[in-house]
Amino acid sequence: MTEIYDLHCHSTASDGALSPQDLVSRAKQYGVTHLALTDHDTVAGVAEAQIAAEMEGINLITGIEFSTTWQSHCLHIVGLNLDPSHSLIAEGSHAIQTIRDERAKKISIKLEKKRIPGAFEAVKQAAGEGMITRTHFAEFLLSQGYVSTLQGAFDHYLGEGKAGYVSTQWPGLEQVVHWITASGGIAVLAHPMRYKLTGSWMRRLLMDFKEMGGLSLEVVSGRNNPDEINTLARYAKQFDLAGSAGSDFHNPKNIWVELGRLNPMPDFVTPVWHLFETNALTS
Ligand code: AMP
Ligand code: MN
Ligand code: MN
Ligand code: MN
Repeated sequence: MTEIYDLHCHSTASDGALSPQDLVSRAKQYGVTHLALTDHDTVAGVAEAQIAAEMEGINLITGIEFSTTWQSHCLHIVGLNLDPSHSLIAEGSHAIQTIRDERAKKISIKLEKKRIPGAFEAVKQAAGEGMITRTHFAEFLLSQGYVSTLQGAFDHYLGEGKAGYVSTQWPGLEQVVHWITASGGIAVLAHPMRYKLTGSWMRRLLMDFKEMGGLSLEVVSGRNNPDEINTLARYAKQFDLAGSAGSDFHNPKNIWVELGRLNPMPDFVTPVWHLFETNALTS
């Protein structure tokens, strides 16, 4: 059977639309054989996903997507195949939840100043026990008719420099990579094209990341075109990093991104799942 890896997606434990169980069922439906659930800064959905994966007969790889600040850039580091019950994951997750709650209050105050009341109560309720993200604010702004699309919410209110933007100091890169590696996982730089770094900044980042223990780069992601994949594959090769592949699926309503719908990994890149074999946690 062909193996289809999707190593980046979100559930209701962070800003995904589907419960972990529904996400796993959808992954199965779309032919995914190996799925990693990588919610923002939390592993709260992993246990439910694991049970669902056993029922559906697909392989679940434990995961998380940590937010970090490096040289004043906000970056995302995916952790794969880690021990979700490791104390450092719980500590890191808890620290970021506090940062997210504080940020959510500040965003709400900024929106109130723009005569948009009630945001904090709405996002808190929508997130439930999960992490509050800007996606929750975007959904609130959309449901109240302040914008007509999710993208519009980022363009007009939540994006950098906009009225509801709050600049945030996330835990540092070295710390986040340590949380992942110390808990037995593999640290992956997520969607590297999203940061809009120049070539020299990208090389500086990859050098730092590798020195800190980072092992992989997301070469194939949901919305990358073949040119971008080729560029990232060459970075992976140059810095001796394994290539990861993940859709970054959040919501079935986004017709552009689907679980398992990914371009192939260029054959000169070592796939990150080859590293799983040396890792005791993989089933
Ligand atoms: P946060 O980590 O709370 O800052 O939220 C970031 C999340 O917002 C990302 O993981 C995306 O899911 C979503 N997001 C960021 N920028 C956009 C955008 N331009 N359009 C739609 N969703 C976005
Ligand atoms: Mn997200
Ligand atoms: Mn991300
Ligand atoms: Mn993501």
